[in-house]
Amino acid sequence: MKIIHISAECYPIAKVGGLADVVGALPKYQSSKKITSEVLIPFYDTAFTQTHTFTTIYKSKLNLGDAVFPYEIKTLDNNTLGFEVFFVDIPQQLFRNYVYSSDDADRFISFQIASLDWLLTWKDKPTIVHCHDHHTGLIPFMMSQSLKYKKLSRISSVLTIHNAQYQGWFSYDKLAYIPEFDMENAGLLDWNHQINSLATGIKCAWRVTTVSPSYMEELKVKANGLESLLRHEHKKCSGILNGIDTDVWNPETDDYIVKNYGPTIVQSGKKANKKYLCDRFNLDIKKPLIVFIGRLVGEKGAELLPVVFDLILQEKHSSILLLGSGNKEIEKELEKLKEKHKGTYNAFIGYDEKLSHIMYAGADFLLMPSRVEPCGLNQMYALRYGTIPVVRNIGGLKDTIIDIDNKGFGIIHQEVSVYAIVYAIKRAESLYKHIQKFKNIRNRIMGINHSWDTSAQAYINLYKTLNTKVS
Ligand code: ADP
Repeated sequence: MKIIHISAECYPIAKVGGLADVVGALPKYQSSKKITSEVLIPFYDTAFTQTHTFTTIYKSKLNLGDAVFPYEIKTLDNNTLGFEVFFVDIPQQLFRNYVYSSDDADRFISFQIASLDWLLTWKDKPTIVHCHDHHTGLIPFMMSQSLKYKKLSRISSVLTIHNAQYQGWFSYDKLAYIPEFDMENAGLLDWNHQINSLATGIKCAWRVTTVSPSYMEELKVKANGLESLLRHEHKKCSGILNGIDTDVWNPETDDYIVKNYGPTIVQSGKKANKKYLCDRFNLDIKKPLIVFIGRLVGEKGAELLPVVFDLILQEKHSSILLLGSGNKEIEKELEKLKEKHKGTYNAFIGYDEKLSHIMYAGADFLLMPSRVEPCGLNQMYALRYGTIPVVRNIGGLKDTIIDIDNKGFGIIHQEVSVYAIVYAIKRAESLYKHIQKFKNIRNRIMGINHSWDTSAQAYINLYKTLNTKVS
């Protein structure tokens, strides 16, 4: 069995969020199960591509309407990632020092066309083309409809939805970009009078998965306009919970953190990391340290954080540290709080992989008051690093966290409101005072196994059912 994952992100090459973590880990775990699992991603101008060398294995040109773009397929020299990765290098469109931008429709249509043009040249075609999110949603359509890809039409396609909020919409004036197909089937591209890449992928892929079972059920009710489509296509839809890469996310070996620790030396290990954070960010080490790591957007409940933090910090029971970036208004509000709560609050506005690791290691609690959480990886990293999650009961959070009142190991709130989040944090503060109970939970969560091993096998089992298309 030969799988090719096609994605806009892949850790450590290009990461914006959880998509990168998944595409950087799943193929590695699949490869360890004796199947060939490879990745195809755009060639961006990132720190990774600047510091590695590549070999060009294929050169060609692609057409986008009347425009012609030369492109190359590259492989990574001295690859230690644990899986083969191929890069689509379209210098004029993809080679930028960021992943996403306002001209993504053109960029990712080109990426998808170049990917399929190149797959056509493979002698030994893949068994499965596994697409990730809307950036690759047109691939199942082109494979099944575009005349030039007829040779790929019998290859099974799987689409994994990591986030249904973003759908890759574009107008019909770009229809001509898509390699020729029977116009009678143009409806497959349409959703609400525009071309919708995610909807197209859902209609045309042989199977559709989400990154947690609860998220799939939630999408049938609320999916930014696609709920009726997901209900209609339910027979080919299922949810497979993401795993975590336990080689990268391992407090015993993690190079990023200040002191490594395992289940036997949790106390001293976490304390050293907490001390680093408290020294660096001027926080009171005696108080429980509550952290938030993530994109500052409505989906994550981020606009409520400034008010929640202000209320919590006024009572002086906790220290709070935030790492994130996103909405400029929210960033400004979070910055403003620094002056008012000097000594118990700080925020690093930006993206910092190393700091995120130290925060998972040094924190006592991790806050995730998400409105939408397709899977959420942060809570699984937190568990592994002995940090107790305080989360909303939604999506993947619902599938991974059990409340302490139900013999579990986390703190759960139902609503996304200032009151509900503040109350959940107060429960965390109270747990912190019951020192033995707190320590027992901390030790227990480090042993919870969320490795990709199980989930990688679940995808393989799904691939094995793909002899026939479900309609
Ligand atoms: P999403 O993909 O919706 O952003 P996930 O929980 O699936 O959320 O994945 C988020 C990933 O991005 C985690 O690895 C998290 O540690 C990381 N991350 C998010 N924001 C930052 C940041 N500002 N700095 C470093 N890492 C971040």
